[in-house]
Amino acid sequence: MMNWETIFADRAGRMKASEIRELLKLLEQPDIISFAGGIPDVNLFPKAEVAAAYADILGGGQAAVGLQYSVSEGYKPLRDWIAGEMAKIGIACSAGNVFITSGSQQVLDYLGKLFLSPKDTALVTWPTYMGALGAFNAYEPAYDRLTPLSNREPGSYVQAAEAKGGRVKFAYCVPEFHNPTGVTMTRAERDWLLDLAETLDIAVVEDAAYQQLRYDGETVPPILALDLARHGGDIEKTRTFYCGSFSKTLAPGLRVGWVVANSEVIRKLVLIKQAADLHSSTVNQMVIARVAETIFDAQIAKIRKAYSHRRTRMLEALATHMPSSVEWTRPEGGMFVWVTLPKGMDGAALLARALETVRVAFVPGKAFFADGSGENTIRLSFSCASDAMIDEGIARLGRLISAEMPAAA
Ligand code: PMP
Repeated sequence: MMNWETIFADRAGRMKASEIRELLKLLEQPDIISFAGGIPDVNLFPKAEVAAAYADILGGGQAAVGLQYSVSEGYKPLRDWIAGEMAKIGIACSAGNVFITSGSQQVLDYLGKLFLSPKDTALVTWPTYMGALGAFNAYEPAYDRLTPLSNREPGSYVQAAEAKGGRVKFAYCVPEFHNPTGVTMTRAERDWLLDLAETLDIAVVEDAAYQQLRYDGETVPPILALDLARHGGDIEKTRTFYCGSFSKTLAPGLRVGWVVANSEVIRKLVLIKQAADLHSSTVNQMVIARVAETIFDAQIAKIRKAYSHRRTRMLEALATHMPSSVEWTRPEGGMFVWVTLPKGMDGAALLARALETVRVAFVPGKAFFADGSGENTIRLSFSCASDAMIDEGIARLGRLISAEMPAAA
């Protein structure tokens, strides 16, 4: 038998299936109430519009274009449409600053590939999106903790990175309705981050996967918009990479995302794509362009209404059923509520008990921490849950947590 481990590259050592994913396989069992998957509700997909767009493109004169290879930068009408949308949120740019990828997950991989040599440092929040850690890990970086508004001496990031054998390259954040916490970065936190990035002379990766999913509260300008304002509107002088996605708004199965940034780095990213997969699916980009041009605003209104209702219902259920030693976030959008359990309670152990006894699933928080901390946290997703599931599932979870609580808590 071949011992594959002996010929794997060093980077493969950091590619591990999480235990949680193994546990979550149990979710297929029909009696489980799941708040685990951070995925859109299938019932909200614009199915008819997507089907009509495919039929139109493939059945009409566009079939040859849709089925052929295309340019690595992405389908030009889609890039133009995205540039128009970006302008509406304070990011004036041209199609030359927009690069289409196979989901925004691919942007994270490419930014890791472009910026991270082994032992370089990426700044991430504790917790952060676990898929970003997964993407960056392949490039063998170190991580340091980003705590917005902290008064940590900027030089200490440099020293810590040098001690680990590299330098700080970028700060990664999810400013809107963070995955996993649901929290939105304030204007002051965004300004602080740009100040820090300027002082350290590093890039900022703004993961805006949930940006359109605001249900209430005040809109905060994107970090790239603030960066642009600091440079007289000249995107070529900015250091921020705005990563967008159609996964949460239209449909994730088409795998279409994008990044907006200065064109010098966009050109480098395009070269990476040429080497990796040439370009994203031509026909899928054309379908997304067609659907976005016709129904985007109506679709956003529809999903906001549905998810906003579920968010509110989950917050109400938590208030009704959770013991007083449990805390949780109150997100203004997105798909997640982040719960902090009493000290000493372990989220992974709670999941094992919850699946076995009350048949409720969620994601333990630990996997979202670059240093493996956060044992007493869990992520609840409300995106696919009905009112009845939320009421019953949170009631069951509240009873289980009360029963499991350490005597002193
Ligand atoms: N960023 C965040 C914060 C996410 O939650 C996700 C999806 N779970 C992604 C990026 C990747 O999304 P996609 O590749 O489907 O655009």
